[in-house]
Amino acid sequence: MTAFDDALGARFGEARVGRNVRLAPFTTFRVGGQADYLIETRCSDEIVDALRIARGANVPVTVLGGGSNVLVADAGVRGLVVRTRGGEVVRIDATRVRADAAVTINGLVRWTINHGAAGLEAWAGTPGTVGGAIYGNAHFGGRLIGDLVESVRVADRAAAAAELPASAMAFGYDRSRLQTSGEILLSAVFRVSEGEPASLRATARASLAFRKRTQPLETPSAGCIFQNPAPGLDVVPEGIPWSAGALVDRAGLKGAAVGAARVSPAHGNFIVNEGAATAADIRRLIEKCRAEVRDRFGVALRDEIVYVGDWGLGIGD
Ligand SMILES: Cc1cc2nc3c(=O)[nH]c(=O)nc-3n(C[C@H](O)[C@H](O)[C@H](O)COP(=O)(O)OP(=O)(O)OC[C@H]3O[C@@H](n4cnc5c(N)ncnc54)[C@H](O)[C@@H]3O)c2cc1C
Repeated sequence: MTAFDDALGARFGEARVGRNVRLAPFTTFRVGGQADYLIETRCSDEIVDALRIARGANVPVTVLGGGSNVLVADAGVRGLVVRTRGGEVVRIDATRVRADAAVTINGLVRWTINHGAAGLEAWAGTPGTVGGAIYGNAHFGGRLIGDLVESVRVADRAAAAAELPASAMAFGYDRSRLQTSGEILLSAVFRVSEGEPASLRATARASLAFRKRTQPLETPSAGCIFQNPAPGLDVVPEGIPWSAGALVDRAGLKGAAVGAARVSPAHGNFIVNEGAATAADIRRLIEKCRAEVRDRFGVALRDEIVYVGDWGLGIGD
């Protein structure tokens, strides 16, 4: 046992310290190798303690929320994976609610609807947690979740916690400060208004129905692979929508496959795992799509998905 093992066991209890744990079941893609260590935290204090212990032992930390926007390498993740779980939602006052990072977006939507708090209902059906949504500034129907955030509580890699106003979060399309600072979200305060649960529920149902119509929800995926092209950064040929899915589609790649990874025939920006795909299969298919769209339309698609773990040896040929 190393000092790191000892410290994890002393804080979390030996039974909660996972070693060589397969991560595939914790991702919506259902792929990915083993974490050297895995702790499932139950509250913000546990996240901070895990960060402190890892820092003390110079062990790298990777945070997983719902695993719905990641591609975990087949070789797995070195160091400690903190999988955030549990957490709660509290109403601060009539116009604000606070949600812990591990609360699922669907749980937050349900909570706000049941408490007559309007603002988040259209996000029904978004997989993952508050932490993952803030990290990537999740978007739906042209709106960004960061627009609803008033402030956040984060911890840096040395486990020092701080409150930040939304204005310090550098929110943009698919962007937040967390991507460059390495800080871990502990909780977020969302602005809400008074709402009638029945009408909020109707909005949530409409979002769910839209997703069901437009997304391949029966097969494992990680949602959209690429960011949509952006005016000012990209030039999209006339007649093609400014959408990554449309570009992949027009490049003739819907249905294209590498191993058991396939570009969804229903949505050009989704890759689905038809059963036995490896992370390398999926990554090769991503690179194939990127190369063909660049060659045909001159657009360099940027990743929305986050590559996690040990990709050091590349994806081979
Ligand atoms: C079917 C389907 C539909 C989807 N639809 C949408 C959609 O409409 N809009 C959209 O924006 N996305 C969508 N996604 C993608 C995904 O749901 C979102 O990106 C979601 O916000 C990711 O949250 P997560 O908890 O699963 O993050 P994870 O996948 O676990 O992690 C993603 C990144 O966030 C980081 N992270 C996670 N928690 C924290 C934390 N507490 N602090 C700091 N960093 C953290 C991770 O380290 C990683 O880098 C969809 C995915 C699927 C599978």
